[in-house]
Amino acid sequence: MSNDWTSRRAAAVPRGVAFGTNIFAASARGSHLTDNEGRTYIDFAGGIGVLNVGHNHPRVVGAVKAQADRFLHTCAQVIPYESYVTLAERLNRLAPGDHAKKTAFFSTGVEAVENAVKIARAYTRRRALVSFTGSFHGRTNLALALTGKVKPYRVGVGPFAGDIYKALFPEDDSEAAVAAALASLDRLFKYEIDPAEVAAVIIEPVQGEGGFNAAPPAFMRALRDLCTREGIVFIADEIQCGMGRTGKLFAMEHFGVHADITTLAKSLAGGTPLSAVVGRSEIMDAVIPGGLGSTYAGAPMAIAAAHAVLDIYESEGVIGQGERLSATIRAFLAEAKKKFSCIGRIKGLGSMVGVEFVSPAGEPDGAMAGKVQAEARARGLILLTCGVHGNIIRFLYPLNTDDATFQEGLSILSAALEAATQGN
Ligand code: PMP
Repeated sequence: MSNDWTSRRAAAVPRGVAFGTNIFAASARGSHLTDNEGRTYIDFAGGIGVLNVGHNHPRVVGAVKAQADRFLHTCAQVIPYESYVTLAERLNRLAPGDHAKKTAFFSTGVEAVENAVKIARAYTRRRALVSFTGSFHGRTNLALALTGKVKPYRVGVGPFAGDIYKALFPEDDSEAAVAAALASLDRLFKYEIDPAEVAAVIIEPVQGEGGFNAAPPAFMRALRDLCTREGIVFIADEIQCGMGRTGKLFAMEHFGVHADITTLAKSLAGGTPLSAVVGRSEIMDAVIPGGLGSTYAGAPMAIAAAHAVLDIYESEGVIGQGERLSATIRAFLAEAKKKFSCIGRIKGLGSMVGVEFVSPAGEPDGAMAGKVQAEARARGLILLTCGVHGNIIRFLYPLNTDDATFQEGLSILSAALEAATQGN
């Protein structure tokens, strides 16, 4: 067998599972990853926002090992374990709002989305759903129906679940953009669907795959009012923007209003597969006994990892360091914008930082974002892109990256910008 892993991958794995890089991981720790050829990279992708506490945090690894020594699996619905209950209690306490809450665990983000919708439908006894342009909620059929980004997710894999309506996500935080987004909801309720038939509105407080678009607070407040008025369940999908990424444990804490249901995954469990649906008790109890769960939902090792993650947040100043890094990178990008005309808006919230690349005519320039990403990778920095046009580089570095490593990452980014723009 050859050591050409890129060719072996192409021959053995369907192309639909696109690999962002030809780097094959061998080991990783903190903000660094070493590949199978011994090359070390600084990782500003964090497994798409999963590694807010870094790769292989020793307390996470320790918790997983300790759990593995006790038991690997019982299926929580067959034989429960205390750690499942205590993690639910912790999240109920931490989630915004002092109303009574309950939490159910699943394995992946998309499962949390599916179950949030199921719970909202059972509670309201309504069927329709509203989601937003530019949104991403996962790759199952229902989540794809909710997702507001065609390429690559929705191409050629329909038909999609029905009774789902897309409203306009605000383009920016101007009054005009908020008014346009609210007008699109009005239009929806006039021409498409009676709000009395809508079970839930699902929104990412800061869109991830769609381009690190932060919802304007005025819009979130208006959406909350609308949901309350019409008896619609407000679902905040915090799978990417939650767990401290924006500077608060829950992104909704920025908006002064509460969701009825929140979906969490990714950084919840430090690199092990766990997702959660946290919501108002009366809504969460709408599904009859046996209607929620799955074989691996709330698997013991992932639950143990999530407890360790929360312990780390409580004792290691992770969110505070994330806020310092956010200020550093935002200042760096503001300076870079003066120098490189291809840099457009600097987006996102807290350490959910995105930088837009534009052509001289101001059009989205996905090719330039790709070039910067490739130049950075060649110099040892892993970056991700996002946005409907793929023209945004997004930063999802571990929030506890130390200052020296972070500066090294920014120096590489600087060199990558120079190289990518040479001759432009
Ligand atoms: N919702 C959001 C906001 C996401 O960012 C993602 C993953 N990128 C998902 C849902 C789906 O999560 P998963 O890939 O774990 O199914």
